[in-house]
Amino acid sequence: MESGFDKEKSSLKDRPPLVYLELGNQVATVRNEPLDNISLEDDAELKSNVQKLLGLIATRRRLYTPEEYCAPELEELTSKDTHPLNNSTFSPAQPAILSSTWSSLNLANPHPPTLVERRAKERNDILVETDANIAEMETPDFLKKIDLSELPSREEMASICGRHKSSIACLERHPNFYRFVESLHPTTPINMCHPLALTYRERSFKSCKEELAKTLFNIFNHAIFQCGLHAPIVWKSSLRKSCERVAIDASGQRSAYILLWKKISQPGMLIKMLLHEMCHAAAFVFNRETGHGDHCRRWVYQAKRAMPELPTIADCDPHFKYTCTLCARWSYGRIDFGTATTRCHYCQFEVITKPFQKADKHTGTRPDRTLTPFKAFIRDSYLKLDGMENITHSAKMRLLNEEFLKIRVSPG
Ligand SMILES: [Zn+2]
Ligand SMILES: [Zn+2]
Repeated sequence: MESGFDKEKSSLKDRPPLVYLELGNQVATVRNEPLDNISLEDDAELKSNVQKLLGLIATRRRLYTPEEYCAPELEELTSKDTHPLNNSTFSPAQPAILSSTWSSLNLANPHPPTLVERRAKERNDILVETDANIAEMETPDFLKKIDLSELPSREEMASICGRHKSSIACLERHPNFYRFVESLHPTTPINMCHPLALTYRERSFKSCKEELAKTLFNIFNHAIFQCGLHAPIVWKSSLRKSCERVAIDASGQRSAYILLWKKISQPGMLIKMLLHEMCHAAAFVFNRETGHGDHCRRWVYQAKRAMPELPTIADCDPHFKYTCTLCARWSYGRIDFGTATTRCHYCQFEVITKPFQKADKHTGTRPDRTLTPFKAFIRDSYLKLDGMENITHSAKMRLLNEEFLKIRVSPG
């Protein structure tokens, strides 16, 4: 077969990269590389798990003790101080820079608001402000710092921002008018609506929701997400099925889609779902977070800070539980990566993804003794690498994972 080599080469290039999931915390974190220098001599439990797999010691059924298997603390392994990602940059949301357009004009409302209408707006403004102050007080300080080190390059953000020109004016405020987002609400009096919201108020929500979603995406991206998000909006008729909302390319670059439900029937629902999705997209693309964890909460806080009129986004449940089949570390998340390409960041064995069940939220996990093709391959090859001098478990597993992928790509 003369095409064998080419086939292997091209499929290796096309195949998705291995995704290393850092497990052990509530929400899993995506890593491009496994942990280095994990040695069996330093970790008795890992050593015994590997030895059992290799058939060097008998597997013994141990009594199940939940405490033993509950979320292992990875504190010492996550090397919090050395990882560049943890040099968080503190950058509170900046108020959007406003161009001087309509809001600086001496605008008159189409029909002068009545006293009742003006009072209602004053009350609304006070409520929004109070709500923002409460959020500010209730948010713990550690959620106010955000890591922006994985934002796109300045050039890229400038180019994304170039597409926000028409949306920036939506962020402008004027004392006689409601803010853009508030103006979308069907009960906001038309004569006090933000001028740029009128086009959406005059049409049926159904006929303009896709256009509105794009406008809101740009507004939020500009005001909250540093013009750093590049995420196409995909409308789905059902959100029940798990669908891929993220992707990792061959170079490890993460990207996300914004999934919206076709049946969204009113602007308030659109605003809430879109913002929630965007917080998840940012937490995944910029902070490697696979579910609703602290990074997601940080973006939710940034949103409230930059645009206090936005609804509060609550935590959501994960969809999946990821478990390492060897060391049994586990975490939750919302992303289905597919088992074939996920590996444990710590021990580099396969990670299995199972649907999240509320019932097992607080139960632990044991190593999975099922012999998969991957494990069979490791069992047959692991000891052969012992001849190499001073080779750690990490280094062996790196080599074997590479080898395994090659075999899987071109069998025989
Ligand atoms: Zn969420
Ligand atoms: Zn593991």
